[in-house]
Amino acid sequence: MRLTANEVFPKGNRRFKSSRLRVTEFHIAIVGAGPAGYFAAQALQNAQTEDLKFSIDMIERLPTPWGLVRSGVAPDHPKIKTVSKVFEKIATTEGFQLFCNVELGKDMSLVELQEMYDAVVIATGSSRGRKLGIPGEDLPGSLSAADFVPWYNAHPDYVGVDVQLDCETAVVIGAGNVAMDVARMLALEPHELDPTDTAEHALINLHQSSIRKVHIFGRRGPEHAAFTSPELRELPKLEHTDVHIDAHQITAAKERAEAQGELPKDLKSNLDAMLAIAEAEKNHERSMYFHFLATPLEIKGSERVEEVIFGINRVENDKALPTGETFSIQCGLVISAIGYESVEIPGLNYENGRVKNQDGRVENTNTYVVGWAKRGPSGVIGTNKSDSTDVMKLLIEDLEDAKPKKELSSLLSSRGVVHLSQGQWEKINAAEVSAGEVVGKPRLKFTKREEMLGLQ
Ligand code: NAP
Repeated sequence: MRLTANEVFPKGNRRFKSSRLRVTEFHIAIVGAGPAGYFAAQALQNAQTEDLKFSIDMIERLPTPWGLVRSGVAPDHPKIKTVSKVFEKIATTEGFQLFCNVELGKDMSLVELQEMYDAVVIATGSSRGRKLGIPGEDLPGSLSAADFVPWYNAHPDYVGVDVQLDCETAVVIGAGNVAMDVARMLALEPHELDPTDTAEHALINLHQSSIRKVHIFGRRGPEHAAFTSPELRELPKLEHTDVHIDAHQITAAKERAEAQGELPKDLKSNLDAMLAIAEAEKNHERSMYFHFLATPLEIKGSERVEEVIFGINRVENDKALPTGETFSIQCGLVISAIGYESVEIPGLNYENGRVKNQDGRVENTNTYVVGWAKRGPSGVIGTNKSDSTDVMKLLIEDLEDAKPKKELSSLLSSRGVVHLSQGQWEKINAAEVSAGEVVGKPRLKFTKREEMLGLQ
């Protein structure tokens, strides 16, 4: 969306009127090359006028950009990744520079960026998995989706995650789309993943996996689940995996929800999708099971995970309350997918797992925050477009006189930091894609930083 001049410079904002007589170029640092960062850059690019320009430096800790589009989206959902074409268009627009392999807090401080740039945009997401806080959570065989997902997506920091798939039954905790991605990745016939960009180490492990049953547990009712219906609707179409949901649980949830008034469209669609799953024919060796109203209380095992104890809940006044009854399930792997929180950057204040902010503004600084670092881990990739655009409008409103430009590359080379530019990332990208072509995959991802740095 292109902002109109009136939107960019609201009437009555006198600070702009005096400085608008000649071209003013503002220098903006965006930290984090994921969807929220790219959409922030796009909003700034779209807000440019004849006399207002932005030069944007995007700083990324990894040697590769694209954030969750590269290391979060499930490999069997390649369509979602096509948004990377939009990112590349933004990245090749005049005034944009990419600095990969550069880490805020290690290679430079936030204060340094705040002093160098007219504004700093934090788009670093939330990469740490929330903890269940129950006994046994740290046993071998219990891990967070925040470790498992980047492991199968070839994130260089997660290659060594110890994923033990030598058991028949896995438990996934959480009723959101990440839980569903994780469960699907465990339950698919591994050959289905051969033509995807799943990391090679993960693919080898998945081919040897003994897992045949994956149980997903939500602590509230089906009417409260955070799954979205397009994702639910693809489950009955899986070619080698049956998906089980108790139809009675869904009809009971529908009745409870209807008793409260007309069903919201999304909820109706979700419950209908769950009923379709319940009614679909079952004839495969591999299975996924959805369970609701079950709160994990304890993970048990002597050397590694052996069993999970759940408390059974009931719904009263739209709330899940414990019945006092429990049940247990034997399993060798537990993956919790119960949300994420941001990893702290020195110089920023945090609350509820995200950067403390007011509509994206970080109080008393020239710093702004977008994406999951701003609002917490919610929304699909597209949600970041409107969210980042709204924050960039505030950023533009707040701008005063442009500072003299300082080159980030000079600071980095004075510190011996080797950064990768857009051109160098394009070489990595091309190398991955052509290695993939040979074996019928969209790409073969590098997993080692040295390999990527060595390509230059
Ligand atoms: P989410 O949608 O917020 O779901 C988190 C789930 O964890 C909820 O069911 C929540 O239950 C449960 N939970 C939280 N704390 C728990 C606890 N202590 N014990 C048991 N359960 C607990 O989060 P997410 O799945 O991580 O997804 C994050 C965002 O990414 C979402 O907006 C999602 O839609 C998006 N995403 C989209 C796609 C896609 O479009 N294909 C794929 C992946 C992710 P309560 O509701 O009871 O708190």
